[in-house]
Amino acid sequence: MRYSRILLKLSGAAMAGDKDFGFNPTALNYIADEVLKLHNAGIQVGIVIGGGNIFRGNLGAQWGIEHAEADNIGMMATVINSLMLRGVLTSRGNAEVRVMTAIPIDTVAEPFIRLRAIHHMDKGYICIFAGGTGQPFMTTDYPAVQRAIEVRAQALLSAKSGTDGIYTADPNQDPTARRYSEISYDSVVRQNLRALDQAAVLLARDNRLRLHVFSFDHPDAMYRLCQGEDVGTLIANVDHDVLA
Ligand code: UDP
Repeated sequence: MRYSRILLKLSGAAMAGDKDFGFNPTALNYIADEVLKLHNAGIQVGIVIGGGNIFRGNLGAQWGIEHAEADNIGMMATVINSLMLRGVLTSRGNAEVRVMTAIPIDTVAEPFIRLRAIHHMDKGYICIFAGGTGQPFMTTDYPAVQRAIEVRAQALLSAKSGTDGIYTADPNQDPTARRYSEISYDSVVRQNLRALDQAAVLLARDNRLRLHVFSFDHPDAMYRLCQGEDVGTLIANVDHDVLA
């Protein structure tokens, strides 16, 4: 295996499946089974899940809600998603699953304590990191990179729906668009490629965390990535960008 400890970043939309809002049981089971494939292969898994299937802070303005308050609601959405994911994961396997949150909610989840998270992962527990950073004015991309570095994950797997990597142009608009198999952090930032938030890419660059952008719609994609196959686009400290 190329990776023995990874952090998976999922958007909240992955939990809604073909719906715009809420939860879809088929989608939840699919997520759980993809994660359990890694767990059963002995790969240590951390997860950060977004909240977009419930609420995103940038919706606040149109409702007249102050941005910081709207972000608090978004962070709470990530807590709900994390608890839901724990529920589904534990119903479909024997894995020990812990939710650790940046927002204190002592009766439903553990606080995020870095060394305790590492200890859980050393023991093979699946750890879901909820509540983002606990601070407004960012999305879950940043805490996904942050948690990955904090728990010493070897890579962040950024799961996408409807695309299988980073392209030279929007493939839906431009038929000549080509996928990068490898691209440097600086190219992503300079070209303003919106695979992940820029602040998250810069944090990854400064800490040399490898970022894989891949399609979560393809079953086994994560497993193949961890095994060493080149799936999707790798953002890393490469000298030259490489097209697929
Ligand atoms: N959020 C925040 N601070 C954080 C992480 C998330 O304020 O550290 C809020 C922000 O409003 C964000 C929402 O939580 O829009 C849900 O996260 P995100 O938009 O990343 O969800 P996704 O699009 O991945 O489903």
